[in-house]
Amino acid sequence: MAVAAVAHLAGRIGPRLATGPAFRRAADWAAGELSAAGYDVRRERFDVPAGDSWGVPVAAGRSQNVVAEPPGFDPARPHLVLGAHLDTVAVSPGAEDNASGVGVLLTLARTDLRSRLPVVLVLFGAEEPRGPGDDDHHYGSRQHVTRLTAPARRAVRGMLALDRVGVGEAVPVGSATDEPPTALVRAGRRAGVPTAAESRQRSSDHWSFVRAGLPGLRVGSTPYAGYHDARDLPGLIEADQLDRVGRLVLAWLRD
Ligand SMILES: [Zn+2]
Repeated sequence: MAVAAVAHLAGRIGPRLATGPAFRRAADWAAGELSAAGYDVRRERFDVPAGDSWGVPVAAGRSQNVVAEPPGFDPARPHLVLGAHLDTVAVSPGAEDNASGVGVLLTLARTDLRSRLPVVLVLFGAEEPRGPGDDDHHYGSRQHVTRLTAPARRAVRGMLALDRVGVGEAVPVGSATDEPPTALVRAGRRAGVPTAAESRQRSSDHWSFVRAGLPGLRVGSTPYAGYHDARDLPGLIEADQLDRVGRLVLAWLRD
């Protein structure tokens, strides 16, 4: 399932610049998958400025987040957020970055989570940078956090960003602060999945949550040949690693 999602997004649809037509096709497809899995799906649309997408000048435009809530969800009640960015830089088909994370998220959407709290699934648009600064990336997740009501912000009890999760054997687990990502190390141990812990890891959508005073952790980030270029193709992705990540995330959801 996760492997099929990677093949569809990176193999058939290809590069998914956050403001372009291929991204919209990917968002429509993923929204259909989440609806079919039983979630109530809505879109959050937002503006993205012009900039430089890893060496390619790109125009301003609109992007969107795909937000999937379980039926009867009350955002003011305690819940968890599981996110993955759906966009890529201009030239990359983005198998590892980040069809891998999307594939694991969509697989979990079809799973009986038995989680400790209700789980909102979010596919973020425009995570990838359009410039060098901390305000030149993570546009979709910053929009998502900005639009949360005060009760909804207080109700976010945990957030995980799945970003680049399909290569390697140990699973990188990161916190944005100086504190180690203890909850993810523990989840890995319970799931029988080796982890590599990292602190001050701020290069994905969890950082938008932590910047705003909310919880946030990241899974993924193993270096690989093909990062942000045209070689980021489905053949890079290891089904066993996607499976390990899925088991680790399930253990965290149930912790
Ligand atoms: Zn990424």
